[in-house]
Amino acid sequence: MTWDQPEVTVVGGGMAGSEAAWQLAERGLRVALIEQKPAELSPAHQSPLCGELVCSNSLRSDDVGAPAGLLKDELRRCGSMVIACADAHRVPAGGALAVERFGFGRAITTRLALHPNVRLERRRLDALPAGDVILATGPLTGGPLGEVIRRELGGDRMYFYDAIAPIVAAETIDPERSWRASRWNKESPASAHDPVAPGDARAAAAAGDGEAAAPDGDYVNCPLDRDQYVAFVEAVRAGRKVTPHDFEEPRYFESCLPIEVMADRGLDVLRYGPMRPVGLTDPRTGRWPHAVVQLRPENRYLTAYNLVGFQTRLAYPEQQRIFAMIPALAGAEFLRYGSIHRNTYVDAPRLLGPELELRTRPGLRFAGLLTGVEGYIESCAMGLLCAWFVAARRGGAPLPPPPPTTMLGGLYLHVAGAREPGAPYAPTNVNFGLLPPLPEEPGRRRPDKAERKRRHVERARGDLGPWLASVCHHVAPQARAGA
Ligand SMILES: Cc1cc2nc3c(=O)[nH]c(=O)nc-3n(C[C@H](O)[C@H](O)[C@H](O)COP(=O)(O)OP(=O)(O)OC[C@H]3O[C@@H](n4cnc5c(N)ncnc54)[C@H](O)[C@@H]3O)c2cc1C
Repeated sequence: MTWDQPEVTVVGGGMAGSEAAWQLAERGLRVALIEQKPAELSPAHQSPLCGELVCSNSLRSDDVGAPAGLLKDELRRCGSMVIACADAHRVPAGGALAVERFGFGRAITTRLALHPNVRLERRRLDALPAGDVILATGPLTGGPLGEVIRRELGGDRMYFYDAIAPIVAAETIDPERSWRASRWNKESPASAHDPVAPGDARAAAAAGDGEAAAPDGDYVNCPLDRDQYVAFVEAVRAGRKVTPHDFEEPRYFESCLPIEVMADRGLDVLRYGPMRPVGLTDPRTGRWPHAVVQLRPENRYLTAYNLVGFQTRLAYPEQQRIFAMIPALAGAEFLRYGSIHRNTYVDAPRLLGPELELRTRPGLRFAGLLTGVEGYIESCAMGLLCAWFVAARRGGAPLPPPPPTTMLGGLYLHVAGAREPGAPYAPTNVNFGLLPPLPEEPGRRRPDKAERKRRHVERARGDLGPWLASVCHHVAPQARAGA
């Protein structure tokens, strides 16, 4: 090692930080990678290795026709070190890319430790250093750093739990059994992270803290009659739930309770909460239904909708089964299931600039799960992009973001794209709902689901190449400074 001062400090040697440090180092930048292990282990981390997989050893589908497979394909084309190590240590797992976790972690650690531009510092970081910094400390950020970041963000823009509502594909909501309208035809319901009880949009608006009023018809309403509602509540009560980890002692906000907790409190609790029918006149009956599930647009393309206030610990297959009891969702395709777990992420769309930099302190960038993505490969992708932004900026030419039609670009836009004022921000993993809809072809029959996916993939793969070619001079790997 022939240098003292790093040019960039990366904090956290997990999926995002390992990728970021490698990408920077390969571009000739001197990197201090600060990792708290092995002296400090979070409740989920067990090994001293970088790139530790805290739970499953699967990096999900390796089929390029699936969202996770497409993202991996793009990461390979971008030269991801983490995916290269995964490929080198894969174990048979059908269509998935699963790895032998210790070989995988050892490969990542060795590559980083031996890189002449990386200095791996084994210590917990408790205060923010000066200069260019990438924070990639993940969902279980250790020590006082979480509080330091929260203060730096200036208030309540950091979340320590995520309460995620399921998302369905718009085209699979039955239009015959639902209708479009906002409550009283003018207001929006409250939802996860809102500071008031679900459904109390008036109070939220009065507090100046709730969601902005939505224009008429922004919501899709899925009615249930009394029998359907009772059966639904009973199914939610009886459904299999995911058991929290030991360190995830459930501490729910009253304003964002899981539906099963509400269902357990009484038959009508959901009907006075997220399934409140008040102000929603069903045009087919001219009356308010017994209960309603409201769906809100999840993306700017209106191709995906989330079930407002439906954060849940129900197991994924149970969600599929039980939510199909809502008549309008009987054939719904779930793009993401609901979940609740301990997490740490920032309100990225509002706090971060286009290069994932904190608007109020541009030298400080965020990567990985902290930005509000879910999953190993998504975190790795945000580490890679963040490093490229830093490398390009230091080279004097800002990096244009990846095309929105690619998975990398869709994920990036989820994190850094503009949001409606007041719209809640929740983490996502990759799904086709992140991509813009395919162009209409007048006079031609709408392609079926499989065909649409095929075309999404084809477009994404086609669009990544020109972007890579156009940015390669910004981020081309350079001679190793210390080599
Ligand atoms: C219990 C649990 C189970 C999960 N299971 C899965 C799963 O099965 N599949 C999946 O895709 N995703 C899973 N996730 C999400 C997973 O954490 C992310 O997908 C991914 O690991 C996040 O990558 P990251 O780089 O942002 O954070 P991490 O991979 O967690 O890396 C963060 C690193 O920062 C270090 N660090 C933290 N604080 C400090 C500090 N103050 N100073 C220095 N170093 C610090 C940590 O030791 C760690 O090495 C799970 C998360 C949890 C908490």
